[in-house]
Amino acid sequence: MALPRTRLLDRKVVAEGTMAFSFEKPPGFEYTAGQFADYTLLDPAETDAEGDTRGFSLTSAPYEPRLMATTRLRDTAFKRVLRNLPIGAELALDAPYGSFTLHHNPARPAVFLTGGIGITPVRSISLQAAHDRTAHKIIVLYSNKRPEDAAFLDELRALDETDKDFTLVATMTQPESSRLGWDGETGHVDTPMLSRYVHDLTGPVYYLSGPASMVSAMRGVLTAAGVDADDIRTEEFTGY
Ligand SMILES: Cc1cc2nc3c(=O)[nH]c(=O)nc-3n(C[C@H](O)[C@H](O)[C@H](O)COP(=O)(O)OP(=O)(O)OC[C@H]3O[C@@H](n4cnc5c(N)ncnc54)[C@H](O)[C@@H]3O)c2cc1C
Repeated sequence: MALPRTRLLDRKVVAEGTMAFSFEKPPGFEYTAGQFADYTLLDPAETDAEGDTRGFSLTSAPYEPRLMATTRLRDTAFKRVLRNLPIGAELALDAPYGSFTLHHNPARPAVFLTGGIGITPVRSISLQAAHDRTAHKIIVLYSNKRPEDAAFLDELRALDETDKDFTLVATMTQPESSRLGWDGETGHVDTPMLSRYVHDLTGPVYYLSGPASMVSAMRGVLTAAGVDADDIRTEEFTGY
């Protein structure tokens, strides 16, 4: 069966070297916040060994009218074509997939440990939870080298200010190289930092998303802190 088509509606830079692409939501298309989609370029001008399809987390929240994918703009055939695609161009959409979605029991907080491009499903889940007024407490520890590299930082800060159940803890590992200045947390997420924001470390369900090396490092932090492996959910971005 032919895959549904979507259409590129807009693109914008959301951090240094990072672009968000908005797509038309096909009629009847439904997904749960945190899931991902496979996008296939149709008849691209160039291709390479990895082919014409990439999976990207749906950065958009399901209540939003458009779909959004966000990616680091590396110099690969797929991304060169994507960044130059004319507005209105069609792509094939194979979705939704994945189970990196918010747990049901609102008595258990959700703690996200993420960094860099791993923020994509976290934006979707956080905005949808706020929109639905779920009773979950959500804490996002978001690590980047510099604020310039942190996609959706302002939007998540605004959510932190308006939603009492949402806490953003942004940390920068190379704040000295920033032109913007930084007076928040610094350094990698570790057990002492986690303990400053999560008082009972065994209470929450933890969510780790991003490149495999980052997910593995975050899992190490949680294991060292005594968190049960059953309370850790992951989404590994293969290809980084
Ligand atoms: C469930 C899931 C969700 C994902 N969500 C996202 C998302 O939200 N955003 C996102 O950006 N990605 C996401 N990814 C990863 C995405 O599918 C791509 O694999 C990734 O963006 C890399 O694509 P590429 O075209 O840059 O590299 P590819 O062409 O796919 O790279 C192929 C190989 O070349 C290497 N390579 C390519 N370019 C470089 C470079 N410049 N430096 C070093 N090595 C290089 C890669 O390590 C890889 O082994 C997700 C993956 C999965 C499985």
